[in-house]
Amino acid sequence: KNHLLRSLKDTPATTPDGINIKLFANIGNANDMEQAISFGAEGSGLLRTELLFMGRDALPGEDEQFEFYKAVALKAKGKPVIVRTLDIGGDKQLPYFNFPTEQNPFLGYRAIRICLDRPDIFITQLKAILRASAFGQLKIMFPMISNIQEVRAAKVILQQAKDELTKAGITFDKNIPVGIMIEIPSAAITADLLAKEVDFFSIGTNDLCQYTLAVDRMNEQIKDLYDPYNPGVLRLIAYVIEQGHKNNVEVGMCGELASDSKATLLLLGMGLTEFSMSATAIPEIKNIIINSLLVAKEIHQRVMEMDSSALITAYLQEITL
Ligand code: PEP
Ligand code: MG
Repeated sequence: KNHLLRSLKDTPATTPDGINIKLFANIGNANDMEQAISFGAEGSGLLRTELLFMGRDALPGEDEQFEFYKAVALKAKGKPVIVRTLDIGGDKQLPYFNFPTEQNPFLGYRAIRICLDRPDIFITQLKAILRASAFGQLKIMFPMISNIQEVRAAKVILQQAKDELTKAGITFDKNIPVGIMIEIPSAAITADLLAKEVDFFSIGTNDLCQYTLAVDRMNEQIKDLYDPYNPGVLRLIAYVIEQGHKNNVEVGMCGELASDSKATLLLLGMGLTEFSMSATAIPEIKNIIINSLLVAKEIHQRVMEMDSSALITAYLQEITL
């Protein structure tokens, strides 16, 4: 079966009714990008840059980061890559960074909050990403956005990074798209407002689930409560997709739900057109997308073999229930 699925590598993920779905990979480095393409990924919907910052004893400088992002851009061969700015804190600690001791690290000093508090770290990363944008189709994404001020503040620092590069005569993509993760309920509920500030959304179902349900995603004891199928979570997801599209913002999903084959048809039904997941999950999800009208086709076929309206209506009634 795996072999059969792998043979779909170059088949586009188009639904039977002609909607083109983009399947992207979540990656941590250039090697992942290369592997992702071999699984049929059309780019990356999430480069977790914090992996570059972990497992070492000092912050990476601008040049080192530039080389890292450039290598990813080159491996993507012109395909889009969403580069997420530093998402540390919570479960992701850095040995050389002094995190405060907190009662609730997942509700604390992390991700965009750290970056806005430490513009020195943030601007270094943004300049490195911008420089790498000359070598591929990069996009910038801010994690853990909870309000519109954070988006605006992050964009001010991004503009500052651009100005510094322009002054130094360094080339970069001046129109690099900017997006945010929707992974905090307040962001999901204000998606219509946030849409006015950005080019795209990416729904982070891992954290959205954790924060909507007040369930620590690392806590084994309450893992049954960690349920992305909770109607509260599903309504938020549907709302973000709807409001994003209404406001001309691209909407993708990069949390684990994007690779859950049970959710694929539901998410398609909600209008989601971009899924980002671990590369190995792409063939299976693509197979579901390509065959998403199979059930309807099968119903059609069976109905055509029935010889009376009584049989047909009884059958349709039965499968509708
Ligand atoms: C998410 O929260 O869904 C997500 C994709 O980000 P991470 O798992 O890195 O927190
Ligand atoms: Mg997250």
